Amino acid sequence: MSRVKKLIRQEILDLSAYPVPSASGMIKLDAMENPYTWPAVAKEAWTDLLRDLPLNRYPDASAKQVKEALAQSMGVSDDYDLLLGNGSDEIIQLLAMAMAKPGATILAPEPGFVMYKMIATFCGLEYKGVPLTQDFELDTEAMLRAIDETQPALIFLAQPNNPTGNLWDETSIKAIIEAAPGVVVLDEAYTAFTDADHLALLDQYEHVLVMRTLSKVGLAGLRLGLIIGRKEWLNELDKIRLPYNINMLTQASTLFAIEHYDMLLMQTEQLRVDRVLLMKDLASIDGVEVFPSEANFVLVRVPEGQARNWFERLKEAGILIKCLDGGHPLLDHCLRITVGTTDQNTKLVEALSSIAASGSVH
Ligand code: PMP
Repeated sequence: MSRVKKLIRQEILDLSAYPVPSASGMIKLDAMENPYTWPAVAKEAWTDLLRDLPLNRYPDASAKQVKEALAQSMGVSDDYDLLLGNGSDEIIQLLAMAMAKPGATILAPEPGFVMYKMIATFCGLEYKGVPLTQDFELDTEAMLRAIDETQPALIFLAQPNNPTGNLWDETSIKAIIEAAPGVVVLDEAYTAFTDADHLALLDQYEHVLVMRTLSKVGLAGLRLGLIIGRKEWLNELDKIRLPYNINMLTQASTLFAIEHYDMLLMQTEQLRVDRVLLMKDLASIDGVEVFPSEANFVLVRVPEGQARNWFERLKEAGILIKCLDGGHPLLDHCLRITVGTTDQNTKLVEALSSIAASGSVH
């Protein structure tokens, strides 16, 4: 297969694919999904709607109705446009493709969402990761230095940040925006779980865009992400968007979900309440340090050398979480736990307590 090696770009050969572990039959607390499904009446109304869709036709290429409904439900003013993607992953890719001039750089604080780096690599951009501080705050000085040195075309700031779960100091965010020579994307994937939002920055800075997704509010299977910003930016991105990137089933289901937004809101409210309880319960386990979270997941640090062991033992107990140990020096001995149903959280805490008590704490 020497043609593979000859033809595929070296940086792609060097990549390993984004790992998605099998979770069949397990309590799935690894991927920030909403654990709740819809009540039977809602499911019935939704399937009725899907039944009559003309699947022989292409979907609306501009997804106009969906964009309007989303803009309205999020209170986006007419001054700004929306662009939709097959998940926000696709939007990150559109941004990167559009800006992939020779030597162009993507900059992001680390640890952060891994796709920023992966997509930089796919699209042939340079990537610069800047470590957060020990307590996962922005290292403003280091960020400003890196901006000065690399002149990044794109900076991603996830608020709340994945995988740390926290919000950063607003003054630091503004300092970074003001120093940035390119575009700054505020990635608000977890906006449903925090009161903070950054839409107001759009009025202040013409080089800021705000990205969101429906994945975390209960629609991960739909693959619908969006970016909000000035028409001048989004018109250019729209030129490289594949014409039918939002399929007909996703468009119809999104409209349905927006009409029934109360149902999703009830679920996210429940998750916010349960996050607090989960954090408290986790903190009471011997040897577990819990970091503050404004998202639908919680980052914890377990006793030295135990992260992989605790992760494996939870897996044996039928619970899948994410082991972050080894991924980044700041994440040594760390695990990330998605907030599940009340019942799932109880099972997780019981399992972790018994693992912690069974002698793995030295
Ligand atoms: N941004 C952040 C910060 C994320 O954590 C994720 C998902 N893990 C995404 C973007 C991508 O979300 P999606 O492609 O499902 O919209």
